[in-house]
Amino acid sequence: MKDYVSECQQMVKTQLEARDIIDPRVLEAFSRVPRHEFVSINLREGAYVDYPLSIGEGQTISQPYMVALMTQALQLKGTERVLEVGTGSGYQAAILACLAGEVYSIERLPGLAEESETRLVRLGFGNVRIKVGDGTKGWEEFSPYDGIIVTAGSNQVPEPLLQQLNDGGRLVIPVGGEFLQDLKRVTRKGDKFVQESLGGCRFVPLIGEYGWREEVKN
Ligand code: SAM
Repeated sequence: MKDYVSECQQMVKTQLEARDIIDPRVLEAFSRVPRHEFVSINLREGAYVDYPLSIGEGQTISQPYMVALMTQALQLKGTERVLEVGTGSGYQAAILACLAGEVYSIERLPGLAEESETRLVRLGFGNVRIKVGDGTKGWEEFSPYDGIIVTAGSNQVPEPLLQQLNDGGRLVIPVGGEFLQDLKRVTRKGDKFVQESLGGCRFVPLIGEYGWREEVKN
């Protein structure tokens, strides 16, 4: 039986702390969430390695460092309402659940949404709500959000997400081309949106009304 607890601690130390992940709450969340529970049994061996893994349906669970970098950029303190676009395996949602008050997550593929919902309930992450849909339109019912995180690469910053951001809130999103994107943080200051670049990244496409068109990508 593999010692996942020590693999997880090693991951936090060598892949996160050794780079630029310095928020102690973020580091603590990564040491608490069992990443191996979010991948299929045949991929568990590599659950804590420094690269993305397949989660089926042509989708991936991002590299731990990328999940941490995006999470840290939200600067969560514990009481926030956060929206995630791209539930995938539910790993990022679980990390957010440790760091914020309420987490809403949207996934366009029903099979993945259903699996991650079951998984998050089984693992005891009770403050996450998942729905199937086009996350580029946001989830208006529970807006405004103090943080929005998009875990798929877009060709634009979806306007509905900007509109659903609280004043002072942060949106973290990869924006660019089909294969390479720039990780952006957009902070709302009243009617103004201040953009910063957090570096290059590579994500599967965000497919929807305010992202890539489905017919081009599938
Ligand atoms: N956050 C996930 C995790 O922790 O496992 C990884 C997300 S994976 C890199 C990107 C996900 O975005 C895929 O599951 C994909 O189906 C989903 N996706 C793509 N376009 C979407 C959209 N418009 N709305 C919601 N989900 C979308």
